[in-house]
Amino acid sequence: MFSTMIIAIDGHSSCGKSTLAKGLAKALHYAYLDTGAMYRAVTLYFLETGTDYSDPQAVEDALQHIEIHFERVGGQNHTFLNGADVEREIREMRVSAHVSPVSAISAVRRAMVALQKSMGSRGGIVADGRDIGTVVFPDAGLKIFLTADLDVRTSRRHLELAAKGIDAEWDDIRNNLMERDRIDSGRADSPLRKADDAVVIDNTLLSEEEQLERALQLARERK
Ligand code: C5P
Repeated sequence: MFSTMIIAIDGHSSCGKSTLAKGLAKALHYAYLDTGAMYRAVTLYFLETGTDYSDPQAVEDALQHIEIHFERVGGQNHTFLNGADVEREIREMRVSAHVSPVSAISAVRRAMVALQKSMGSRGGIVADGRDIGTVVFPDAGLKIFLTADLDVRTSRRHLELAAKGIDAEWDDIRNNLMERDRIDSGRADSPLRKADDAVVIDNTLLSEEEQLERALQLARERK
C-alpha cells in the first residue's frame, strides 16, 4: 500500500538516521538508500588515489573513474566502490575526517544527487542524508528531520564503531561530529536544513523501537 512512497530522513551526524531508515525499510519492505555512504566512498577514492580535492579539475577527472553501487552481503547493505566492497573502510575516522569538505564540493554533489535520484526513481525507498527532503527528493511522501543531544550521539557512534572493531577516542568522535555538523550546515551548496514540511523527531530519550513506531505512525498517516 506504500509501494511508491519515498521517505526522506535528514539530520545531524550520528543521530540515528540509518537505524531508523533501515527499520522503516524492513517494516515497509522498501529499499534503503544510504547517501552518506556514497559521499564516504568518493572520499575514500580521493584519499586512496591521492586526489587533491581542492583542485576542481582533479575532482572532475576523478569523478569519471568512480562507480558506486550497493549489494546485500550477509543480509546487510554493503557499499561497493569500483567493484570492491568498502563498507568497513568508509566508516573509518580517516574518511570521517575528510568527508564533509569533500561533500561541500558542488561537482561531487551533482554526481551523487543524479545517482541518488535514479536509484529512487521507482519509489518504495527510504533515503537518509542531509539534503534528501530539500534537494534529492523534494516531493517525498514523508520527510523526517532527526535530532539528538551531542553527547548521546557521540556515545552511540562510539559503540557502533567498537562493534565494527574500529578503535576511536570518544573526544575525537565528538569533535568530528561537531565539525561535520558545522561544515554540513554552513556550506553554500545544499546545506543541511530542515525542509519546511519535515516532521522533527528528537530521539535523545527515545528507544529505537519508540522512534520506529513514531515514524511508522507518520508513514501510515501519509499513505
Ligand atoms: O550519513 P553519514 O554521517 O555517513 O554522512 C557522511 C557525510 O556525508 C556527512 O557528514 C556529510 O558531510 C555528507 N553527506 C552529505 N549529504 C548527504 C549525506 C551525507 O553531504 N545526503
